[in-house]
Amino acid sequence: MEKSIIVIGGGVVGLACAYKMAQKGLKNITILEEGACGARATTASLGVLMPYVPTIEKPTAILQRTSLEMYEDFAKELVDFSGVDIEFEKLGHIQILHSEKQLEKAKKAVERSNELDKKVNGENAFELLTFEQAKELEPNLKEAKFGCMYSRMTANLSTEKLVLALKTACEKLGVEIKENTSVNDIIIQNGKVKGVITGQGEILSEKVLIATGAYSAKFSHVIDNLKEIQSQKGEALELKLEERKFDRLVKMAGFYALCKKDGTTFIGSTSSRKPDFSEDVKEKSIKMLMKGGQRILPEISEKDIVRAWAGHRPHSYLGSPLLGKCNEAENLFVAVGHGKIGICTAPFTAEIISSLIVNDELLIDLTPFRVNKLKLPGSKD
Ligand SMILES: Cc1cc2nc3c(=O)[nH]c(=O)nc-3n(C[C@H](O)[C@H](O)[C@H](O)COP(=O)(O)OP(=O)(O)OC[C@H]3O[C@@H](n4cnc5c(N)ncnc54)[C@H](O)[C@@H]3O)c2cc1C
Repeated sequence: MEKSIIVIGGGVVGLACAYKMAQKGLKNITILEEGACGARATTASLGVLMPYVPTIEKPTAILQRTSLEMYEDFAKELVDFSGVDIEFEKLGHIQILHSEKQLEKAKKAVERSNELDKKVNGENAFELLTFEQAKELEPNLKEAKFGCMYSRMTANLSTEKLVLALKTACEKLGVEIKENTSVNDIIIQNGKVKGVITGQGEILSEKVLIATGAYSAKFSHVIDNLKEIQSQKGEALELKLEERKFDRLVKMAGFYALCKKDGTTFIGSTSSRKPDFSEDVKEKSIKMLMKGGQRILPEISEKDIVRAWAGHRPHSYLGSPLLGKCNEAENLFVAVGHGKIGICTAPFTAEIISSLIVNDELLIDLTPFRVNKLKLPGSKD
């Protein structure tokens, strides 16, 4: 039987879109995942849900902020429906400002963010704190000569549990999930999607959604703009400490410490362009993460490390995802390139994509999310 839609990729984006499409009443949805659902970038992530720090205005600002505003309800509904606790916790974060220049940048970011707050009718996402004010919140903070930037909106969840909850919810709504099924190509006839070619043969479908994360350039012969998607490798560490050092996430100079109630502490994360998709964690990266972590928690040492891992963020050239409907083939849709914020932006991404696919409804202007080639004034194609 022909599928109504095939979702290629079972990361957070593919799963969340399938879940929302099924909720809106679409039947006969199939997710094709080349490995195990969530095993790529999604569970490599630390599941931090943070408001956007606007330095330059990007379409991502609204996407991220709206998604964050939606998260609590999204999480509650998902947990109630699936029966899986995703460990959603609104913990807040403190960024230690370590130079005069950083303080100036933080002041501008707070101003820009207050403008965004008004647009989304939300509470103030960021405020500046003196070191003394920050230390009242987090007594284990060692030093912050230039004060801190604080957001009470930042939240955290378990990405393993999120994947399990989304898979369970999808299956409850009748979505078929086929793991270990790689899509080699998309079948297009007379400008219309007809299905996909997998390692096990063809599967016909009326529509296709590409949600293949960092691996999306494979389909750039179908959608030219997918050439833009590259891997941005990220590595992180898990440490076992005797107790929780901070209740909030603490950031400094590009690194952060995220402490769980049982003393498990995560140090995140590196960031480098690695087109080879290597999964190893180099000694150099461990040293870099430890150095960054020790600026926040001087007492940690390599002896505390229990795990180091890597994943590939779907990086886009312009820093915002590709979202929407493709003009090059009818019934072909895209949701890729969420970079460092794919977990955070999943609820709103899924709402946008499911409304477009199921109800042909455009929730926001998707032009900046550039699925289609820009037509230059006067150009014929
Ligand atoms: C170290 C690290 C820390 C991070 N921390 C955070 C964080 O705290 N907060 C946050 O919001 N984001 C974070 N991120 C980013 C976040 O993980 C990503 O933005 C998000 O997971 C992207 O989801 P995705 O579904 O697009 O990609 P993926 O999770 O990579 O899913 C894409 C899926 O498509 C499958 N696939 C690819 N090609 C094919 C094919 N041809 N056929 C079938 N299946 C295919 C893949 O196997 C994969 O499972 C972090 C990332 C890393 C690496």
